Amino acid sequence: MERILSGMRPTGRLHIGHLSVLENWRRLQEEYSCFFFVADWHALTTSFDETGGLRANTLEMVADWLAVGLDPEKSVIFKQSDVKEHAELHLIFSMITPLSWLERVPTYKDQVQQFQERGKDIMMYGFLGYPLLQAADILMYRADAVPVGEDQLPHLELCREVGRRFNHMYTPIFPDPKGLLSKVSLLPGIDSRKMSKSYANDIGIFCQPGELKKMINSMITDPARIKKDDPGHPEVCVVHKYHKIYRPDELPGLEEQCRGGGIGCVACKKMLQETLDGILKPLREKRMEIIARPGYVEEVLLEGASRARKAASETMALVREAVKI
Ligand code: SF4
Repeated sequence: MERILSGMRPTGRLHIGHLSVLENWRRLQEEYSCFFFVADWHALTTSFDETGGLRANTLEMVADWLAVGLDPEKSVIFKQSDVKEHAELHLIFSMITPLSWLERVPTYKDQVQQFQERGKDIMMYGFLGYPLLQAADILMYRADAVPVGEDQLPHLELCREVGRRFNHMYTPIFPDPKGLLSKVSLLPGIDSRKMSKSYANDIGIFCQPGELKKMINSMITDPARIKKDDPGHPEVCVVHKYHKIYRPDELPGLEEQCRGGGIGCVACKKMLQETLDGILKPLREKRMEIIARPGYVEEVLLEGASRARKAASETMALVREAVKI
């Protein structure tokens, strides 16, 4: 069975924008041997000065993963910092990776600038090297494939180059992992900006019905619609972007009604609320069951770390032998 590795930073409870990523992971675990990890060391690269919530966020996020259907019987679910071999492989890779390879990763300069505009300096050694830590994460499990979005392809390419360089310099150990381009639906936040907790425009996967209703009622619609029967322009409306994903079959009819002033925004939002509530209710219930089991999430992570360490120690034995250390 081919192996897959993917991870997420521990940002705490997840929002609906993460749902399609998790649904993709859930499908993948039926076909592949999957390793899913909480990238807590990665979180340090930009949040090194705000670590207070890391542990709690890890547990919250893994509870979310389990509620969406990641199955610890099928997949290895672990926390990166529980498997110290990641740090060791990162260090070895850092010895053989030219600095220029890291400096040319397209997202590096962009992100440094974005953080600078927010008044934060992330030009640290760790941030420059984080694509290399990613390479160590992937190559550690000699993964055959990695689910990626288009924006992550340069990172995967760097990972491949590092693996090839190692194989060429020492002994061929690492495969060339392929990118599995996943179709992830990009949902905007309720104010039409990118969905993010820091903008407070995100809808939590597990939010209660009252909160869901409040968030949907706050969604930006077509500002040209004052009265219920004013002709609308669905293409500028956030609600429409959600209908596009969650009610694709009814979309042409909804658009026609909006354009013709046949449906008001209140009714249109109510439809969305019903749809989302239908999707999120079983997930909420599953999460309640998970958190009702004291220590269960911790157990999943412990068991996952033990399985991940076994695979990692096999790779590291080969690496140490190849490097002669
Ligand atoms: S009717 Fe629906 S799609 Fe049209 S502007 Fe209102 S909320 Fe948006």
